Amino acid sequence: MPIYEYHCPSCDHKFELRRPMSEATAPASCPQCHNGARRTLSIFASISRGSSPALVPATGPACGSCAAFNQGYCSSPN
Ligand SMILES: [Zn+2]
Repeated sequence: MPIYEYHCPSCDHKFELRRPMSEATAPASCPQCHNGARRTLSIFASISRGSSPALVPATGPACGSCAAFNQGYCSSPN
């Protein structure tokens, strides 16, 4: 189950909850003051949001499988 971050506007308390994805946007109860807390964007959410170009490996002339072992030089005959 994924972990979500919540922030309570009443007491400014931040906490994490492990709950099913279907309940991610449902209001959570603050463990300190038991008021409604809102979900905040967690690190997980920003990572899964997707493909930063800097994180995509550069593609070269070598095939992927041998490039990793031969420092970019492809030993395949084709
Ligand atoms: Zn609170």
